[in-house]
Amino acid sequence: MRKKVKFTNAGNSTFYVTVRKRVDAYFSDNNISVHANPAMWFKTVFFLSGLTSIYLMILLGGFNAAVTLMLCALLGMFGAFVGFNVCHDAIHKAYSADARVNDFLSFIFNLIGASPYVWNICHNIVHHTYTNIAGHDEDIDVAPGLIRFSEAETVNKIQSYQHYYAFFLYSFAMLSWVFRKDYKKFFQKKIGEHVANHPRIEYYKLFLYKGIYYFLFIALPLIVMNINWWQFLIGFLVMQFAQGLVLGLVFQLAHVVEGTSFPFPNEAGNIEEAWAVHQMQTTANFGGDCKLTSFLCGGLNRQIEHHLFPKICHIHYPAIGAIVKQTAAEFDLEYIESPTFGVALISHYKTLKRLGKETYQATPYINRPISYTTRPAMAYVKK
Ligand SMILES: [Zn+2]
Repeated sequence: MRKKVKFTNAGNSTFYVTVRKRVDAYFSDNNISVHANPAMWFKTVFFLSGLTSIYLMILLGGFNAAVTLMLCALLGMFGAFVGFNVCHDAIHKAYSADARVNDFLSFIFNLIGASPYVWNICHNIVHHTYTNIAGHDEDIDVAPGLIRFSEAETVNKIQSYQHYYAFFLYSFAMLSWVFRKDYKKFFQKKIGEHVANHPRIEYYKLFLYKGIYYFLFIALPLIVMNINWWQFLIGFLVMQFAQGLVLGLVFQLAHVVEGTSFPFPNEAGNIEEAWAVHQMQTTANFGGDCKLTSFLCGGLNRQIEHHLFPKICHIHYPAIGAIVKQTAAEFDLEYIESPTFGVALISHYKTLKRLGKETYQATPYINRPISYTTRPAMAYVKK
């Protein structure tokens, strides 16, 4: 049986207290709100109007097949960007001090295919607390048996090719999310260690909001556009694959790259580090100084700052990044970062290869669950 994981802070680290005090001081000394500022509002308008315009161009533009397919790919990418830049902050309640603004922008998550209610549990509660702990963090449970992200998972022959096919599987992430994942997570008894006890209204909302999405992206194009079912299907799949690939890559580059750890709880079920130290050891940034990467990824390229301060709007991460990096250095904690998206992508590829091919070559035919007693004794296995 899985035990509830606790962070015991055996080393009495004061890293989090220190970095929080300094970040709080940055906001109060400069008289800045932790929420959205004009630059953030601009991004919001840009991505939401972009998404709406592309959708309407596909539906009403009457373009030829090649242009329409390009627009479908762009629509998928904008769907991901709206998720990264607007909804992610809103669901964390980081966007605004006004709950109504957060609620409204969270609702838009439904219109890009995902349930904000289920995401709040999977992401805000489970992933943000139990980052990279196998069996607890469902974000590393991507395609069980096919993709191996953690030393705690079994290895099999097919995974020795995972560095090739993982990227192909990421393309299915959104398709799965739209038709399967939200229902599966909603109806399973536990999400990680979080016991599902959903208010009755959420059952209605789940189906109603999914219905609205299916109407907008399946029924309406079939009614309005002069296309047959297989032409629709190609466009729909292009959109889903584009959105899934962007999502899959951006999510994985934050936690599954060289340098990040996949900690094992000890036999008492505890992680002996402080929670914030654990976040530093399991999370990585990429392209933090690249304005375009930051504009498109909406803070998901600065996940170190995001995991430490999820209630601060991502528009402030470049500014507080310097404080976090300096404080981490003082506490002798590694600040794991790749200079660009490309470098992080290569690092992710190498990590997949090491966890698949190289592990399989070193110990072939390990194809059994690893129990607490057979796991390595140390709490952290550094990659
Ligand atoms: Zn988050």
